[in-house]
Order: sequence, then C-alpha cells, then structure tokens
Amino acid sequence: MVQTTLAVKSYQDPSDKKIFDNDAPKPISIQPPRPKPWEKTYVLLPAFSKVSEDKYLYAHASRILHQEQNPGCARALFQPHDANRGVWVNPPAWPLNTDEMDAVFDLPYQRVPHPVYGKEKIPAYDMIKTSINIMRGCFGGCSFCSITEHEGRIIQSRSQESIVKEIKDIQEKVPGFTGVISDLGGPTANMYRLGCTSEKAEKTCRRLSCVYPSICGHLGTDHKHTIDLYRAARDVPGIKKVLIASGVRYDLAIEDPDYIKELAKHHVGGYLKIAPEHTEEGSLSKMMKPGMGTYDKFKELFDKFSKEAGKEQFLIPYFISAHPGTTDDDMINLALWLKGQKFKLDQVQNFYPSPMANATTIYHTELNSLKNVKHDSEQVSVPKKGRQRKLHKFLLRYHDPAGWPMIREALVAMGKEYLIGNGPQHLVPPETRNEQNRVKWAKSQRLKAKIKVAKKP
Ligand code: SF4
Repeated sequence: MVQTTLAVKSYQDPSDKKIFDNDAPKPISIQPPRPKPWEKTYVLLPAFSKVSEDKYLYAHASRILHQEQNPGCARALFQPHDANRGVWVNPPAWPLNTDEMDAVFDLPYQRVPHPVYGKEKIPAYDMIKTSINIMRGCFGGCSFCSITEHEGRIIQSRSQESIVKEIKDIQEKVPGFTGVISDLGGPTANMYRLGCTSEKAEKTCRRLSCVYPSICGHLGTDHKHTIDLYRAARDVPGIKKVLIASGVRYDLAIEDPDYIKELAKHHVGGYLKIAPEHTEEGSLSKMMKPGMGTYDKFKELFDKFSKEAGKEQFLIPYFISAHPGTTDDDMINLALWLKGQKFKLDQVQNFYPSPMANATTIYHTELNSLKNVKHDSEQVSVPKKGRQRKLHKFLLRYHDPAGWPMIREALVAMGKEYLIGNGPQHLVPPETRNEQNRVKWAKSQRLKAKIKVAKKP
C-alpha cells in the first residue's frame, strides 16, 4: 500500500466550517490497481502420468477443470505430460452478446442440404429444417452432459427480432413448409434470457449449477421474455403452430407457472417430453437432477393448465439406466414407479461415459468428484459390467418379455421373489411352463457341451 500526502481543500462550500475547518494537508491512501489473481496465475494440474495411475488425482484434476469454467474468474490450466511438454488450457471465452448472436444467425444460410446429397433423404435434416435455435449455453450442470463445457454456463440469447426473422426465412426457403415450427429452443427450452442477477456474484461464481442442489437466490427465473417470444412467433402471418421440442427444465418452470400455462395451452402437440432421468436419490444426486417432488409439482400444473385449455395432453418422462450411483435396488424402485404410473417406455438410454462430463469421471474413478476430492471421498457404486448394465436396461423396460428371465434371476438373488407374480404389485410375471422347459433344455445343452469338452483327449 502506498501512502502519499494530498491537500484536501474545500471547493464545494467554503462557508461549511464544520467540515473544512482544518485546512492542513491530510494523508490519504492510494492503492495501486492490483491484477486480479486469475489474470496472472494458472493452475498446475497433476501430471498426466500421475492421473493415469491414481484415480484420486484424476478425480481431483477433473474437479478443478469443471470449477474453472466461469470466464469471469477462470484461470488457465497446465498439465505436464513429459519433461518437455504439457497441455495448456486457456480460460473459456466470454459469451457472445445478443448483437453478436444475431450476427451469427443472420448469416446467409441456405436451409437446404448440400447439393452433393442430391435427392437422398436425410433424417437429421427432417428433424431440424423447421427448428430454431434461440440460445446457447446451459446453467443446469447435469453431470452426464458437457454442454456447459462446450457452450458455457452463461446463457447467450438472440433477440426476438432475429428469431422472428428466421421464422420468415423458413417460410421462404424450406421446401414444403406447412406452417409448423417444430421447435423454438436450444440446449434447454426455458433458459432464454435467464441468468444471474448479480454481476458481482456471476463474475466470481464457481458453482457447477445454478439450479442444483437448489435454485440459487441470485438466479432470475422470470420467463416473461420466453412467453413474449412464443407470442411473437405465433403472431407471424402464416404460422399455424409453434411446438416446443427441446427439454423443459421443469424445476425452473415451476418457478413461473405462467410459462407452464403458455406452454400447455399453445405449444404442446399432445405429448411433452420431460427428463426426470431417475426417481431415486442415489442416482439423482450423482446426476445433479432435482427430486421427484419437483416433477410431481410440474405435472400437477401441466395437467391443470392442459385441462383449462380443454386439451388431453401427456408427459413422456425420460430416464437413464446404469448411471453412476445407481444400484440394482434403485433400478427396481424406478421400474416399480414406472409400472405404478402405467408407463411403458419404448426408448431408453443406458448411460455411456462421454468426454468431459462429470459423470464420466465418477464412472472411471468410482469417487464422488462433484465435491472436493479427498482421501476419504465418497465411494460411488458404478454399474460397469455388461450383465449389470443389461439388467438395468431391462428394468427400465420391465414390460418387455425379453428381459423377464434376467429380472427374475436378479429378484431371486436379491431376496425379492415377492415381486414376481401376476398382480399389480408384482414387477414381472412368473415363468410359464414353456419357459421353464426352455430353460431346462438350455441348461442340459450347456452341460452336454461341457462333458464333451472334458472327454476330449
Ligand atoms: S451466483 Fe448463483 S445464479 Fe449467479 S452464476 Fe452463481 S450459481 Fe448461478
């Protein structure tokens, strides 16, 4: 700290004797501007050779990487690889502002496949040709997803004018456009123009999520910009329907019931996909997803507003099987919940580790890297083996006869035979006589094959 002496003289009101009585020079402190620590430092990660061998160091390095994602305070990272080489990771780029986003989306896109494809049918094109991206980024932080690492936690939104212009562009350019916009969304349907309300907190925040384990007090949750946008889109002449197909973050949506009302009344084509991902706390806490109480609240509001609009509409929930943190018991409870709700899922996702996701670190290390990593960090149960992963997948499709033999075997091994039967309280039916015969026959064939091998000289 530098101390210097400056004369403080009255120039405001010379008659104010009380304040400016003492005319003598007084010392004041002048603090030279200090570089912010994150502008002058980098974080030295454990060397590659060490993280390859030590799961605690791997989890620790991953934790640091995920904490250095805020462009307001992130530091560069350096990981030594050998004596002369290392990997340097720059801090993330600043998010684009609305004008910059608009400029990107204003480029002269053709909105048709490249001519090289000729008349070939491209399924992905069919899905996106009338879908509009209104924003980038996500502050949800779901551990199985790496959108935050790719697009950032600060939401980058386009202006309403730019989005409406794109709707008109689709009307003009997309061959066979029927007047239906298939999606107005992005990584999440309802984060458009939402974000931290405290500039100071946003610049220094290292939380992995703004909504988990609970919604941060600094997060703005007023969906009025999204509602205005939906209305403006519906008002474009020639537009018959605007659907919302991107995932709705329902813990955020219940903070603003007007949004759910607008959604249910105008933007759902009978079914709305929603992703609770699991029902059990063991799995949800490792996914960083809210509990089922939040889903129930959303469903209650969605059903109420659908009824008010005179529409029969349904939620289609999505779940992940075999996610790190999920036990066989968790999957059985989820299957019982599905059966209780009369859901028979067609498509299921079996967890697969993907680059940069937090859940991938948990999968590899079997440690809870969502918290600071210590020698006594929580050990996480991870369904890794083929048979257990298959069982978890079958449990999500408890209604599919293909999985019944394996589910029965697991239930017996777990002492849960009481879930085998034909009643509503049962998960799978008992074996039929035909199935019993088939199993016996398969066993005898395996035995014969073994004896044959053993007899070979
Ligand atoms: S302070 Fe809260 S709202 Fe702001 S960025 Fe951090 S978690 Fe998100």
